[in-house]
Amino acid sequence: MGYVFAAAPQAVVPVAGSTDLFPVHRIYCVGRNYEEHAKEMGFSGREPPFFFMKPADAVMPVPEGAIGELPYPPETSNLHHEMELVVAIGRRGARIAAANAKEHVFGYAVGLDMTRRDLQGEMKKQGRPWEIGKAFDFSAPIGPIKPVAHSGEIKSGRIWLDVNGAPRQASDVSKMIWNVDETIEHLSKYFELQPGDLIFTGTPEGVGAVVRGDLLEGGVDNVGTIRVRVK
Ligand code: MN
Repeated sequence: MGYVFAAAPQAVVPVAGSTDLFPVHRIYCVGRNYEEHAKEMGFSGREPPFFFMKPADAVMPVPEGAIGELPYPPETSNLHHEMELVVAIGRRGARIAAANAKEHVFGYAVGLDMTRRDLQGEMKKQGRPWEIGKAFDFSAPIGPIKPVAHSGEIKSGRIWLDVNGAPRQASDVSKMIWNVDETIEHLSKYFELQPGDLIFTGTPEGVGAVVRGDLLEGGVDNVGTIRVRVK
């Protein structure tokens, strides 16, 4: 017995400072996790966390110092950047208490939750799922994963994104409505987290459109930076 065709390659993200690879299992994303971003999207900022997903093979790993080439996706004329802290899960667990959450964290990365905002907006209006707005190919550019042993726990620090050298997003990860530990507690009520899961923890205010040729540069203090050119 064998596969009827070659299995898709395992999606991976390099681990910073080594030749190791982090095999991606699932990509979870938190919606509206910074108050000022929730407000800019027309919400109060006070609600329980909610989640959506991208397919594992939506990751587009970008080595530190390199410039990733992001294909402008089809069927949109409003591609938005969302700069985010990404948590990489290294140990399985369900119904994880916030107090124990850090035992499940392998490390952190910087990531972009790229969004076809026009399609997402249309789906929201119609009460339909967000996949066509959020889960397209190359929708998750990500830097190398920094093991928590090197970064320490990330509870605060600047999160920022510039486009063509001009500041677009600037905040602090301490301003998350639901911090990493609380996010893991909520998410693991609904899904058993597995090694290889990535959690995009939400974006601060300042999201906006990019066009072909734009250079996105962003980072999170003590985690890393990422550079992406839209092509
Ligand atoms: Mn997001």
